[in-house]
Amino acid sequence: MSNKSVRVRFAPSPTGPLHIGGVRTALYNYLFARKNNGKFILRIEDTDQSRYVEGAEKYILNSLEWCGLDIDEGPNKEGGHGPYRQSERKDIYNKYVQQLLDSGRAYYAFDSEEELEQMRKKMKEAGHPSPQYNNITRSNMKNSLSLSKEEVQERLDKGEKYVVRVNIPRNEVVKFEDKIRGWVSFNTNFLDDKVLYKSDGMPTYHLANVVDDYLMKISHVIRGEEWLPSAPLHVLLYKFLGLEDHVPMYCHLPLILNPEGKGKLSKRDGDRLGFPVFPLEWKDSSQEISISGYRESGFLPEAFINMLAFLGWNPGDSQEIFSIDELIRSFSIERVNKSGARFNFQKMLWFNQQYLRLKSNEELAQMSQQFILNSKILHDKKYILQAISIIKERITFPQDIFTEGSYLFFLPEIYDEKTVRKKWNNDSVNHLKSLLEEIKVVTDFDATTIEKLFQDYLDLNEVGFGKVMPALRLSVTGKGMGPSMFLIMELLGKEKVLNRIENSLITLGNG
Ligand code: GLU
Repeated sequence: MSNKSVRVRFAPSPTGPLHIGGVRTALYNYLFARKNNGKFILRIEDTDQSRYVEGAEKYILNSLEWCGLDIDEGPNKEGGHGPYRQSERKDIYNKYVQQLLDSGRAYYAFDSEEELEQMRKKMKEAGHPSPQYNNITRSNMKNSLSLSKEEVQERLDKGEKYVVRVNIPRNEVVKFEDKIRGWVSFNTNFLDDKVLYKSDGMPTYHLANVVDDYLMKISHVIRGEEWLPSAPLHVLLYKFLGLEDHVPMYCHLPLILNPEGKGKLSKRDGDRLGFPVFPLEWKDSSQEISISGYRESGFLPEAFINMLAFLGWNPGDSQEIFSIDELIRSFSIERVNKSGARFNFQKMLWFNQQYLRLKSNEELAQMSQQFILNSKILHDKKYILQAISIIKERITFPQDIFTEGSYLFFLPEIYDEKTVRKKWNNDSVNHLKSLLEEIKVVTDFDATTIEKLFQDYLDLNEVGFGKVMPALRLSVTGKGMGPSMFLIMELLGKEKVLNRIENSLITLGNG
């Protein structure tokens, strides 16, 4: 295995929008491939046509693109191992199904839905809570192991509907190595004779997955823990196909748990706690269902990726901010945890804040362009850039420039109630009135001059900062807290500042 070149694949099924867990799987595959000079392949597993959702493949591609996870091979990116959509590989699988049938490792089954249901019902009544089509029950069903050769041929000749099931042996131990979990062993008594192929000409997930991993020369299968129970069947299929030397190295990633740590993170958890679980907004083809995404909520892809990387992996030291290149350098499967990773939306917000601060004012202005257009903010570029530099440290999303920092653009409409209650009183209002008079005569209305004026006022009147500043801030911004008032006042300009103070005195009275 060690001298084999690294080829990994992300193999989603286009059954809906890609969940955050799927993006993490793609990310770990990508990091592992880049770190090891390998190839990152996208394979669309669309054999189950009944679960196919229009637009899902496009959504997957757009999500990977937004996250910056560029693929080396995939649909529309030929790499010599295509096609990369399983529905386009239909003919490839027949040979393998035939080989399994010929060697007795698989068999035809003709049971109808009703017959299967009846079997399950009977088994449950007899005290088997999860009935299986297996080594024991199969003898009572209609299949090529229970029926005569002639009858099987007759049914096939008549074109009767059938499936091909794998012939799981009784009481054998399947062992394989998982790079995250170590050696894993399963007893075949817990496996059922899964369907590998249907007479509609389509293989099921299990067969297509194994055949494609083999044909695409996949060296490591990095996927979610929910696929761990399927791994023994996959290992058996390699064996049955005589490909035991080609079993890839398995790496089953830990689950992403909801913030309470109770169960897998679901869309319902996101709805309940108010955060998205999908990278991009999802609209179904009828455009009736629309589900929010990280991109549209104002998250930066770098922050999203950094956060996802930490859901199940850690670098072993205290560094938290990692560019994608740093992630590539530091990532290793050995440092992926076995136990579930609890999702923490607060941390996601924190990552976004950190990355926003790293952006230039220009970049942030660019990002909020749409908002500026929509809200018809009438300010020149220079003004907007200055406003951004003042508010930048206090925002989580680009659009917060205009919400958190609304007073930089608009007159305050409301005054923070708590600050009014605690800090707007006779005393502070009198100071504010005196300050107003002093401000009126200032000629150079810049932050340094205003700060000096303010400080001199405090010194001369022997009054504390906390007695005057909150009232001043409240009157100019409507808020109880915020960035430097001197910078805010310089940006607004003398006229607006005077106006706002006078307005507040009228609206709030003498305290
Ligand atoms: N098609 C499977 C999925 O939707 C892929 C599992 C695997 O990676 O083997 O997740």
